[in-house]
Amino acid sequence: MTRARTPYPAKYSAFGLARRGLRHRKWPRTIHSHDLAPSYDVVIIGAGVHGLAAAYYLATNHGITNVAILDKSYIGSGGSGRNTAILRSNYLTPEGVAFYERSMELYRGLAHDLNYNVMFSQRGHLTLAHDDGAMRTMRWRAEVNKLLGVNSEVIDAAEVHRVEPRLDVSADTRYPVLGALYHPPGGTIRHDAVNWGYARAADALGVEIHQQTEVLAIDTVGGRVVGVRTSRGSISTPVVLNCTAGWASLICDMVDLRLPLVTHPLQAAVTEPVKVFLHSVVVSGSRHVYVSQTDRGELVFGASVDAYPSYSMRGSLEFTEELASHVLELMPSISALRVMRQWAGLCDMTPDYSPIMGTTPVEGFFVDVGWGTYGYKAGPVSGEALADTIAHSRQAPIISAFNLDRFAAGRLVGERGAASVGH
Ligand SMILES: Cc1cc2nc3c(=O)[nH]c(=O)nc-3n(C[C@H](O)[C@H](O)[C@H](O)COP(=O)(O)OP(=O)(O)OC[C@H]3O[C@@H](n4cnc5c(N)ncnc54)[C@H](O)[C@@H]3O)c2cc1C
Repeated sequence: MTRARTPYPAKYSAFGLARRGLRHRKWPRTIHSHDLAPSYDVVIIGAGVHGLAAAYYLATNHGITNVAILDKSYIGSGGSGRNTAILRSNYLTPEGVAFYERSMELYRGLAHDLNYNVMFSQRGHLTLAHDDGAMRTMRWRAEVNKLLGVNSEVIDAAEVHRVEPRLDVSADTRYPVLGALYHPPGGTIRHDAVNWGYARAADALGVEIHQQTEVLAIDTVGGRVVGVRTSRGSISTPVVLNCTAGWASLICDMVDLRLPLVTHPLQAAVTEPVKVFLHSVVVSGSRHVYVSQTDRGELVFGASVDAYPSYSMRGSLEFTEELASHVLELMPSISALRVMRQWAGLCDMTPDYSPIMGTTPVEGFFVDVGWGTYGYKAGPVSGEALADTIAHSRQAPIISAFNLDRFAAGRLVGERGAASVGH
């Protein structure tokens, strides 16, 4: 069933901006509020990039618009508004590379598709290698990447220095840089713009986004989904899509489904702005750190997940201290820079560092979870693939390797060598 469209939102353009400015006209609301309807064709839990993208592609690619997105908080309040927005497709397995490359393709056209400036900056991505084992993994990744048409190559320390002169690549450091995997199409995006761009477009197509609406229970009859109970009332629906990342296992518990997920906090930090000197995204797995610089000049740092499972979203002093020591080994020249903010989000980690997506043994209950520390880059392709899976009630081909059944069958998609710390 399709729902009546809200009038398409005002077109954003330089001309429109000037015209509204001169005529003192206000911009219309981007997201509309609704009462909960008694039933929907599809209920999506989670208004992060995954839930919003799935709703957008259900509407645009399949004409399914009687869709509700429910979020206990606000749009982008989970990992989608807390991540460091690094995008890349230079993974290790053929399944992973093909999947993330499709996402990069969608991201490249997203500003045009959504009429929203998402500030995608393909500034290049360097994964540093500090020992022979890491160099071997980089070569492996480069070969798989090239076979699948992804631009990625191994470079030596001198070349690393040419790309990023501020990195210390001298041989007398504790962990000398031996080389790197260089991925020129990798880069960063403005995550809030992506979230709001998808939300605005989905809203205009008739999707209802219900913020401050917590899912408390999911009703099933005879092994199939029939409804959802929320903090604002009950809804009947034959389809529920779980897009709740760090909270995913709590939602799966509601239909008695156990997934191999463990939730860990992940922290990040940002410095005061300085003149732009770092042009690519730089990652060091061995030093548990990565860094990029925003257009405003702030350095954005991240690291590995906190060691203990937890649902806490507080930053810690241990994190900042460790981060500073690792970063200064890479770039001693920034020692006087001040950290302005730090924060944390929740990551649903899987044993093989790949997501769990698609159909489940509970009929009508679909999952798009297991996004760990690397799920932002997968938002568009996941939305597209889950919309296809729901519309045709079968696993979309591009995510066939990521079904939950791989754990019982022993067909893990091992991405640890490309996903740990690397984002
Ligand atoms: C510090 C940090 C840095 C990161 N950096 C990167 C990066 O550089 N690149 C990258 O690709 N990935 C990165 N990630 C990972 C990425 O942010 C996540 O994988 C991704 O945002 C997950 O998106 P999502 O839409 O699945 O879930 P989320 O954005 O987490 O949204 C889940 C939503 O579910 C809602 N919810 C939960 N329970 C309920 C309930 N019971 N009822 C209703 N709603 C509920 C929450 O309120 C939340 O809004 C990072 C994560 C963190 C924390």
